[in-house]
Amino acid sequence: MEDKIYDVVIIGAGPAGLTAGIYGARAGLDIVIIEKFAPGGQVVNSYEIENYPGFTEPIAGWDLMAKMEEQTRRLGVPIESGEVTSMEKINDLFHVNTIDKKYFSRAAIIASGAQNRKLKVAGEEEFLGRGVSYCATCDGAFYKDKVTVVVGGGDVALEEAFFLTKFASKVYIIHRRDKFRGTDILQKRVFGSDKISILYNSVVKEICGKEKVASVRIENIATGQESVIPTDGLFIFVGYDPVNSFVPPQLLNKNGEIKVNMDMQTEIPGLFAAGDVRSNSRRQIVMAAADGATALLAAHEYINNIACK
Ligand code: NAP
Repeated sequence: MEDKIYDVVIIGAGPAGLTAGIYGARAGLDIVIIEKFAPGGQVVNSYEIENYPGFTEPIAGWDLMAKMEEQTRRLGVPIESGEVTSMEKINDLFHVNTIDKKYFSRAAIIASGAQNRKLKVAGEEEFLGRGVSYCATCDGAFYKDKVTVVVGGGDVALEEAFFLTKFASKVYIIHRRDKFRGTDILQKRVFGSDKISILYNSVVKEICGKEKVASVRIENIATGQESVIPTDGLFIFVGYDPVNSFVPPQLLNKNGEIKVNMDMQTEIPGLFAAGDVRSNSRRQIVMAAADGATALLAAHEYINNIACK
């Protein structure tokens, strides 16, 4: 057990957590970032980012996040591996517990992000890694000259469907409504690709195969008609759910996101949330980074105020 008391413990090393770290280091605070996987968050799975300011050409997601991590480490911020299992505030001190370590801090920032939402259909778990994927950047190259199916109608589904056309001979997009939610520029790219076919008003009922995915059974919900699409790979991009298993339930809204005010402060003084895990997040990298900066500045002010008491 460690009895060091940090100024701020930051949970998560995506854009929000890393930016909080950068601001914390520059403010001269004693901070630590705890990360469950590798630093970078969901962005590392994006093939290309073209809306993060400062980069005149698109930059690969992993590249952008490697730069953010390097910048954070260069400023002296430790990034430790660990999965936070619970946290509580006792007498003005946050106790943050990971599987094998306990951290103490005056303030804490939850920047744990979000994880891929599941379709919850038969075959999804069974064929994970054997044709079912949540990351085209990671797995797309396995589908050279093969038929793939993408599920979803948001920015991620459209971006990743277009990315898959680099490899696949054919990409079907299955979307439950008759209109995409994704931005115009991405829609235009998808509509302009002769490798992409769109099936609107359609949902996946079952993922079928023996050793690996062989087909998906879909239903047109407007007509009730079912059909089977032979495919080698199913890519699921139907949104994200916040990573909140360790967060005190009273802090969450009905979507499981952490309720915050404009300073990213939760209803527990000294506890902040930033990025995709917080309520009303727009889920943009630049906004997650801004959240991280806002949360850290507010945490700094909070620490100064309790020190003055
Ligand atoms: P999203 O915008 O929430 O879209 C999820 C899509 O999946 C929607 O089309 C939704 O359908 C569909 N869907 C949800 N649950 C489903 C289910 N159970 N079965 C079938 N379809 C389902 O999520 P996202 O595309 O993952 O994007 C997440 C956030 O990141 C968004 O805010 C997005 O703008 C942002 N983002 C931005 C960029 C960029 O700016 N370049 C890139 C990536 C992500 P409905 O439309 O019917 O609800």
